[in-house]
Amino acid sequence: MLTVLLCPDSIPKDFYFFDFSIAPSLMLYSYVPAIIASFFIGLFVMVKSKFSLQGKLLFAISLSFAAWVLNYLIQWTIAYVTPDFLSWQLTPIFMLSMFFFSAYFVYVFLEKKDASLSLKLYFSLLFLPVILLLPSRYNINYFNLTACEGAAGNLWIYIYFVEILVILWVIFIGIKKYIKIKSDRSYRREVLLLTIGISLFLLISWLSDVLGEWTNQYQLNFIGPIGMTFFMGMLAFLIVRYKAFDIKLIGAQALIMAQFSLIGSMFFFAQNRTNQILLGVTFLGTIIMGWYLIRSMKKEIKRKEELQKISDALAMANERLKELDLQKSEFISIASHQLRTPLTAIKGYISLVLEGSYGKVPPTIQDVLDKVYTVNNRLTHLVEDLLNVSRIEAGRIQYSFAPTHLEPLVAELVDMFAMTAKSKNLSLKMQLPKVALPELLIDPNKIKEVVSNIIDNSLKYTKEGGTTVSVEGGDGVARVIISDTGIGILPENKGKLFEKFTRSKETTKMVASGAGLGLYVGKNFVEAHGGKIWAESDGADKGSRFIIELPFVNPKIHAGTSDQPSQKNEG
Ligand code: ADP
Repeated sequence: MLTVLLCPDSIPKDFYFFDFSIAPSLMLYSYVPAIIASFFIGLFVMVKSKFSLQGKLLFAISLSFAAWVLNYLIQWTIAYVTPDFLSWQLTPIFMLSMFFFSAYFVYVFLEKKDASLSLKLYFSLLFLPVILLLPSRYNINYFNLTACEGAAGNLWIYIYFVEILVILWVIFIGIKKYIKIKSDRSYRREVLLLTIGISLFLLISWLSDVLGEWTNQYQLNFIGPIGMTFFMGMLAFLIVRYKAFDIKLIGAQALIMAQFSLIGSMFFFAQNRTNQILLGVTFLGTIIMGWYLIRSMKKEIKRKEELQKISDALAMANERLKELDLQKSEFISIASHQLRTPLTAIKGYISLVLEGSYGKVPPTIQDVLDKVYTVNNRLTHLVEDLLNVSRIEAGRIQYSFAPTHLEPLVAELVDMFAMTAKSKNLSLKMQLPKVALPELLIDPNKIKEVVSNIIDNSLKYTKEGGTTVSVEGGDGVARVIISDTGIGILPENKGKLFEKFTRSKETTKMVASGAGLGLYVGKNFVEAHGGKIWAESDGADKGSRFIIELPFVNPKIHAGTSDQPSQKNEG
C-alpha cells in the first residue's frame, strides 16, 4: 500500500507524520515565522478594516501565501509518500491563488471598486486548465518513490507563463493609473509603492519556483519567503495609508509575533527535555510580556486619541472665538463711525446756541445746555476710545511722529483742565524742569490723548486736594508724572487697570460714567513710542501716581506714516 510507504531515510518521529531532521534547519527558520506572521497580520488587517473587500483580499493573499509556504514545508518534512505526492500535486493551487488574489487586490485598490464579473471570468478561465489538469501527468509527470520527489510536467510551463502574465498585468494597471493621476502627488506615490511592492513579492515567489525547478536545486525555494518582506512592506504602507491603527502598536505586535514564532520554531530543534522546558518557559514569558506591552500601548493610544479629540475641539472653538472677536471689532468700528458724525453736529449746534448765534439764551436754558455739552463731550470721548480700541485690535493705528517739546504740550493740557478742577474745588498744579528738555520724536496728538485721559481721571477720582502734573527728564527718557490725592488704587487692582473695560468697584461707585478704555488705549499708544506707562499708589484713599516714560530716541518709529484725518485727536 502506498499510504504506508515511507520516504527514504525518513522516520515519522515528529508529530507522527513528519521528520524535521530531513529539512535544512534554515528552512524552519525562514518558513515557520513567515507562515505565522503572514497569517496573523492578514487576519489582523482584515478585522481592523471591518471586513472591507480590500481587507478580505489582503487576508486571502496572506492565507494563500501561508498555504504555499506550508505546502513546501510539508514536502520537505513529511515522512510518507502519499501525502507528499498529494502536496506536490496541490502546489499550483496555492501559487496561483496567491497571484490571483494579489492582482484582484491591486485592481480594487487602484479602481476603488470591485472588478467586473467579466474580468473575474477571464482570470478564472486562465486558471481553469490548471485546476482541471491538477491530478494528471501534465502536472506531476512522475513521482520518484526512492527520492520522494516529483518531476514537473508540461503544465508548469503554462503556469509560469500565466503567472508572468499576471505580474505584467499588475505592472500595467499600476503604470496606467500612475500616469493618469498627475495632480495628487501623495496618491501617486501610494500607487507606485503598491505596484512595486506587489510585483516584487510575486516576482520573487515566481523566481524561487522557476529557479528551483530549472536548476533542480530545491534549496532555492528558500528565497520564496523573502518575497514576504515586500509583502510586509506593502502591508505597512497600507496600514499608514488607511491609518486604521497605530503604527507603533503594529510594530510591537509584529515584533512579539516574530519572537513568538521564532521561539515556536525552535521547539523543532530542542533535543532534550531540559531544553524543551526552558523553551516552554521562555515562550510563556514572551506571551505574558507581550500581552502587557500591547495592553499598555493600547491604553496609551486611547488616551492620546482622546487628548487629540479634545485639542481638536479646542482648536475649533478657538477659531470660532477669533471669528467672533473679529466680527465684534468690526461692529464696534462701524457703530462708532456712525455715532461720531451726529455727536460732532450736536457739539457744533450747542456751541452756536451758547454763543448766542440764535438769539439770547435764558440762564436756565444756558445751564441745561452746559450740561448737554459736557455729556456730549463725554460721549464723543467714549466713541473715540471705542474707535481706537477697534483700530488697535485690527493693527490699523497710524502714527505721525514729529519732533515735539513735551513741556508746552503738557502745559496746554493743564490749562485746558483748569476750569474743570476749579469747578470741583480741586487744585491743579504743574511742575516743569528748570532746563528745557530736548525735543522728542512723538505723535503729539496721541501723547496728548494719553496725558489728558490721565489728568481727567485724576480729577474724576479725587474728592479733596488735587492733582500735580510734572515733567522731568533723565537716563535717556522723559517722564510725565500725574499724581493726585484721590481714592488711590488697591494693590489687587493695579495690574488690571491697563486692560480693556476694566473699572474697579470703588471707582464705579464714585463715578458711574466711563468704560474703562482710556488706560488701555494709552498703554498701546505709549508702547508704540517705545515707552512705558504704569500706576503707583500706597493704597485706598492714599492717592495715585501715573507715570508715562518716553525715550528721547524712539526705537519704534516707522518713517513715512501719516495720520488720517479720522484719527486726529478731538479732545
Ligand atoms: P475709565 O476712567 O473710563 O473708567 P480708564 O481706562 O481711564 O477708564 O481707567 C481705568 C480704571 O483705572 C478706572 O476705572 C479706575 O478704576 C482706575 N483709575 C484710573 N485713574 C485712576 C486714579 N487717578 N485714581 C484711582 N483709580 C484710577
